[in-house]
Amino acid sequence: MRRNEYLDNEVKFLAGVGEVRGRLLGEEVGVRTLGNLLEYYPFRYIDRTRIYGIGEITEEGAEAGAYVQVRARVTGKNIVGAGRGARLVVGVADGTGVTEMVWFRGVKWAEKRLEVGREYVFFGRPHFFRGEFSMVHPEVEPVGGAGEGGGRERAGLQGVYHTTEKLTNAHLGTRGIYNLVGNLWELIEERGVRIEETLPKEMVEREGLMGRREALYNIHFPQSGEALKAAEHRLKFEELLGVQLDILGKKSGREARERGLAMPRVGENFGKFWEEKLPFQLTGAQKRVIKEIRADTVSGKQMNRLLQGDVGSGKTMVALVAMLLAADNGYQSLLMAPTEILARQHYASIMKMTEGLGLRVGILTGASKGAERKEAIEGASRNAGSDKKDNAKPRIDILIGTHALIEDGVEMANLGLVVIDEQHRFGVEQRARLWEKGRSVPHILVMTATPIPRTLAMTLYGDLEVSVIDELPPGRQPVRTYHKTDADRLAVWGFVRREVAKGRQVYVVYPLIKESEKMDYKDLHDGYESIVRDFPREEGYQVIAVHGKMRAEDKQAAMREFKEGGAQIMVATSVIEVGVDVPNATVMIIESAERFGLSQLHQLRGRVGRGGEQSHCILMSGQKLSKEARQRLRAMVETNDGFELAEMDLRLRGAGDMAGTQQSGIAWELKIADLGRDGQVIEAARRAAGEVLGRDPFLEAEENRLLAELRDKYTPKARADYSKIS
Ligand code: ADP
Ligand code: MG
Repeated sequence: MRRNEYLDNEVKFLAGVGEVRGRLLGEEVGVRTLGNLLEYYPFRYIDRTRIYGIGEITEEGAEAGAYVQVRARVTGKNIVGAGRGARLVVGVADGTGVTEMVWFRGVKWAEKRLEVGREYVFFGRPHFFRGEFSMVHPEVEPVGGAGEGGGRERAGLQGVYHTTEKLTNAHLGTRGIYNLVGNLWELIEERGVRIEETLPKEMVEREGLMGRREALYNIHFPQSGEALKAAEHRLKFEELLGVQLDILGKKSGREARERGLAMPRVGENFGKFWEEKLPFQLTGAQKRVIKEIRADTVSGKQMNRLLQGDVGSGKTMVALVAMLLAADNGYQSLLMAPTEILARQHYASIMKMTEGLGLRVGILTGASKGAERKEAIEGASRNAGSDKKDNAKPRIDILIGTHALIEDGVEMANLGLVVIDEQHRFGVEQRARLWEKGRSVPHILVMTATPIPRTLAMTLYGDLEVSVIDELPPGRQPVRTYHKTDADRLAVWGFVRREVAKGRQVYVVYPLIKESEKMDYKDLHDGYESIVRDFPREEGYQVIAVHGKMRAEDKQAAMREFKEGGAQIMVATSVIEVGVDVPNATVMIIESAERFGLSQLHQLRGRVGRGGEQSHCILMSGQKLSKEARQRLRAMVETNDGFELAEMDLRLRGAGDMAGTQQSGIAWELKIADLGRDGQVIEAARRAAGEVLGRDPFLEAEENRLLAELRDKYTPKARADYSKIS
């Protein structure tokens, strides 16, 4: 490392820190060294030239959580209460209005500092109550006093830093941290500390990036609005380049290492299926994706493909065709589903579709017992030729199941293809275990109906090729979606009666959230009771319930009964969320819809609209809704487009919360870039990374030494395995 070692000194040596605060900074926000402090970026900026009049500050005008500053004279101060409950209330006035500043902690200290009659600048977040506001624990500076940032923030933009309660109590609120960074820069300048560039010079020039030193200065002390933008861009680019070098480097390394199993033959299984069994014409999108898969599997490359397709777009058919082609080439396939129900459903439909082809299909789930289990495990490991010799049972060509497949010591004799359905339910670790199942590395097809916004996919699945089914089978009518409240209950039930009278089926879904499981089951139970009351058996209604606490077999039986038309109404927790296929169901009622996330709502809605009839989705909620919940429900009513909803979900919740990101177990430590929002920078970084790696895949050249360091910095430790699996 050439980097100037000065920045590796502990932060406690900085003026204004010391032992105690030094330890706190490390514990609370991970700032241990001077270099860490330099990379502790503001998360937003306030305009320091802007002093608000007290009268101007209104609840409507205030940005949520925004900081403001007022310049006001202290008119009185008062300690209210005593002992631990004591608080200091300071009245202030500025000619436009009066307000109160309040301290619950550091009461004595604040009381001593503030003189009646003197003018101060108060900086903090206004809290509104009945139209009036006050500020709790504002930061205070006497007017004309020190600590105005040494005139660094020429643009008037001052960084606001994340802080914690403990830090604030140690006088390291956002302003305190800001002052520390100011002290650090003074030191850097005084001592002529070098801040090394982390990117090759020619890349900085070609990409038109701000230099690192200048960027670090401007991120803390913006000299102008443009300089701040350029600084942000530079620092984001650096992070995202590190991430992309990591991802793309592993991808090309893997491609160089693993030779794929070649599957050039189009044989009898595929041919016969195509001629005799295919129940419908494939959509253009399905055909295109099959071609893409085929191109991979004949190429001698090992396929790693993510197949995205909205619910109902027909991903299963694509998977089946791929598995038939594998069988034509003498290879076995695994199809993994996230739930027992879904695995059984796949098993039933694939058995039916492959009937008469001479293929052997097996199933193995956690619930598999006795003969089923034995046959799956033995059939999977049997060699293809063995049946000829001893006339034993033939080997299983397609094995379908849940994660029991990878937990139960199944040995595959000649595994060629692994299909993972609804992949976000599978952890990275589970995927990693797949490799041990076969002798050589099989092709992998990961299918998901949770649309992942493109920008996020570039990083999360940056090492997978992506196929998209962007077309629904013909004749589908978009589901109509409505938002209703309990006041509309009678009308909703009336609607259900009319649909049932037409011979249709209805889902009623209740939320199930781990934390409040007990209450949720109670809701489900109460809901079920009241539905049974409203739709009595005597009038010919059959209502069944399915929930997570039922035994697998019972769940199975209930699902089958519903599918076969033995009941018109199914009351369920979100177990039906993934993949259930009952084309005759036309109504989806989602209770307490405000408690579901957007992608979950969209998934649930996808359970209807699978046949030719007009389908309906009714979102039930209480009257009172948070702003965000209201936005979610409105979005559901307005659009059926899964990608649009995913983008919106991303905007509402940020990348960290997106379905798939947590489960994926992939965590890059990003300080400034946002995987969801910085799509353009990601693209630029990805392009730059691709260019460099094209010339020097392992970044071994001396000229790429800096980039190799950057890559290593952004290679998550937890991700060491990831290279193995996807
Ligand atoms: P998903 O992509 O959600 O997994 P499925 O594979 O379950 O969707 O397919 C949804 C339904 O559409 C199934 O009933 C399936 O048989 C049917 N289907 C699939 N492809 C076509 C097609 N090309 N034409 C008509 N129906 C199709
Ligand atoms: Mg599916």
